[in-house]
Amino acid sequence: MTTQPLIAEVVSIGDELLHAGLIDTNSAYLAGQLEQLGIVVQRFTVVGDDPEQLQEAIASACRRADLVVATGGLGPTLDDRTREVVAAALGEPLRFDALSWQEILEWFARFKRPVPDSNRRQAELPQSATALSNSSGTAPGFRVRLHDAELFVLPGVPREMKVMLNEHVLPFVQQLGGLIPTAQACLRVLGPSEALLGERLQQFMQPGRNPLVGITASGGMLSVRLIGTANTKAEAAALCEQTAKELRPLLREWLFAEGLQTVPELVLAALAADKRTIAFAESCTGGLCAARLTDLPGSSAVLQGGIVAYSNAAKHELLGVADDLLEQHGAVSEPVAQAMAEGACQRFLADCAVATTGIAGPSGGSKSKPVGTVCFALATRNPSGSIDAKAWTVRIPDLGRTFVRDRAVFEVWRALLQ
Ligand code: ATP
Repeated sequence: MTTQPLIAEVVSIGDELLHAGLIDTNSAYLAGQLEQLGIVVQRFTVVGDDPEQLQEAIASACRRADLVVATGGLGPTLDDRTREVVAAALGEPLRFDALSWQEILEWFARFKRPVPDSNRRQAELPQSATALSNSSGTAPGFRVRLHDAELFVLPGVPREMKVMLNEHVLPFVQQLGGLIPTAQACLRVLGPSEALLGERLQQFMQPGRNPLVGITASGGMLSVRLIGTANTKAEAAALCEQTAKELRPLLREWLFAEGLQTVPELVLAALAADKRTIAFAESCTGGLCAARLTDLPGSSAVLQGGIVAYSNAAKHELLGVADDLLEQHGAVSEPVAQAMAEGACQRFLADCAVATTGIAGPSGGSKSKPVGTVCFALATRNPSGSIDAKAWTVRIPDLGRTFVRDRAVFEVWRALLQ
């Protein structure tokens, strides 16, 4: 047992991570989960399949940290070398683990598929390693003591990695000493640039402050994250709340959501709590709003459906937007957004509906409606059955088509959380 804070490192393995095309999402996920337990994650390493480089990366992480989680390179092919490399770092041979082999055979039997001979490699582990069963794939992981660290090696496939983290790594580290009681809070902000927000929160952002305050940006939304540490989790949570109290007045009208859940999760929870159903009429967001909600389990209780009405004809035919509204005001206008939302609310028999219509760019902008102009409307069904709708326009900075569309989706979430 150690009284020092537990220090962790993450090693992500695979040539594909070093080339454009595959982003290492495992490290960020692992760090988030470990941090929540109060483990200090001090370094990420991304390394390819070259055995020498790989051995050096794993061995040096294990010299620096108490806990190392490595992902990838556990597949059946010859370029999956993590098992051999860890065995070499330990100075041990590989052993064949009969139980792991049994689990691999059962996995293939479940899907009634023949077992390729090459999969036997996946049942080989360094001599002193403990096998970790993989309930969602073929590659077993393993745990072993290397230098000063507990080394967990998990498959690279994010779905499998997450299951094995929960089943094997987190229960193991929870028994170790050195977990710092931590708490987190998150304030979601739409509106300012990162620089402007950083200036406003400057006094809270010095390194070493407790709680630590940091800003992250994604899809045009900024998140102000707080991580507090103390003697107990409750004290850490109180520290976070104390700082959040000071931050709220500074964030003012920009602040639109709070909590560690994702924003779509918060929206789904809010609609479900109010027992409200929703529909979407999407033009420039092309179905993104509906897609982000259907990503979440439980969305069927809330989402009635959505229509992607891109052309004027679709807006008219599918949502009942009057032709003269389209002619008079143009497709990107508040009256059209309002008619789209009303149309969706009626057609899907929903309690509320949101419409988006805008100019995502790069072309299509004009002096009066530059790229980034997006009109929104929220239609709400009254107890009498009548529908009220309000429309509004946001000029989103033209930082590219993806930015405009993602930011428009966050504007929708903001409207639904108000
Ligand atoms: P498998 O037996 O399924 O091949 P593995 O441990 O060998 O498991 P890899 O071959 O390294 O896993 O990776 C499989 C896939 O998982 C990759 O092609 C990639 O899509 C995804 N993946 C691997 N590492 C990461 C990572 N760090 N971040 C995000 N995705 C990853």
